[in-house]
Amino acid sequence: MILIVDDAPENIISLKKVLEKNGFEVDTASSGDEALKKILKKSYVLIILDVQMPGMDGFEVAEAISGYSKAKETAIIFLSAASANVNLITRGYSSGGLDYISKPVDMNVLLLKVKTFYRIYEQSRALNEMQKKLLEEIEFRKEAERKKDEFISIASHELKTPMTSIKGYIQLLERSIDKNDVETVKIRLHKVQNQIEKLNLLVADLLDISKIESGKLKFNKRYFSFDDILDHIIEVMQQANPAIRLIRTGHISTEIFGDEMRIEQVIINFITNAIKYAPDSDEVHITSELRGSQIYFSVRDFGIGMAKEHQLQIFDKFYRVEETSERFQGLGIGLYICQEIIKRHQGTIGVNSEPGEGSEFYFNIPVHPEKDINNN
Ligand code: ADP
Repeated sequence: MILIVDDAPENIISLKKVLEKNGFEVDTASSGDEALKKILKKSYVLIILDVQMPGMDGFEVAEAISGYSKAKETAIIFLSAASANVNLITRGYSSGGLDYISKPVDMNVLLLKVKTFYRIYEQSRALNEMQKKLLEEIEFRKEAERKKDEFISIASHELKTPMTSIKGYIQLLERSIDKNDVETVKIRLHKVQNQIEKLNLLVADLLDISKIESGKLKFNKRYFSFDDILDHIIEVMQQANPAIRLIRTGHISTEIFGDEMRIEQVIINFITNAIKYAPDSDEVHITSELRGSQIYFSVRDFGIGMAKEHQLQIFDKFYRVEETSERFQGLGIGLYICQEIIKRHQGTIGVNSEPGEGSEFYFNIPVHPEKDINNN
């Protein structure tokens, strides 16, 4: 928008008419004071400013607005009787652009100048926009790079821990073999196996992440008994964690369509987290039930819980609750993979949690998905 500032109404009227006829939006002010008030409120692309006005003259207006942030990009065309004064103009004003036209105004020249300023304005706006986008992109990449570095360091640490244990157990094993102590050999072999299983799970998770990224996470769907896999998982996990009571309620009692191994992976992840993030509790409640055409599955723990602001983000890749990340080992990818698996079963995943009270992780998936493409 253009602001015309002139104390002579007839000048304003004729300038306004010509500019509006040429498609420009125009605002007017009949004194320096009025102009300042308007410039404070609105941003103008260009101000056409009469130099000779009673009270505050054009130069004073220009000087006054040079400090306004709203007028930073604004250009000024002075209408002056004498071109000699123009040297003074630049004194206080060094922003958008400056020009002058001698009176009486040649409308063709004025229009040419106005159009030029508008073009420059559009170009600089486009440049600013581009610069802003580039800066955002740079920030985004820096952040991604930082997250990647952090992830590599956590992942290396996570992989190193079981490897160090394996190395230690193997040394101990050698000694037990030398002593012909078969019982101890068996115990140590079992420990090595456990650590290898841990490594295996970590590597499998890392591979899943890269498969999700490249869209290559494959599903092998068929009908299976949800109750059977849940029974089996609880049995195995109960044996591995005798100090925790895994309390189960509800049954599905029907076969559901999905990738059995992947659904198993989600259930195991929920229960493993429920045990891991509740070190002072000895109960985990597991619920499964049919709700209409959906199955509902949840794992409730009585552990550390988490604040609202983390509840949406914990399903993001690499997200870990910072306050507790030192205390508990992890990579922050399990729930991200779970979310992907449930999404690919046309389901929903979520959490209800209170800090210090515990968490309830749940998912819903349709028993018979409406339209399903196998292996997708
Ligand atoms: P990891 O446990 O390896 O860090 P996950 O993706 O399984 O990765 O979990 C992401 C984050 O969510 C965890 O780091 C933890 O901060 C939080 N979280 C997950 N499960 C629970 C839970 N049952 N109770 C409290 N916090 C949890």
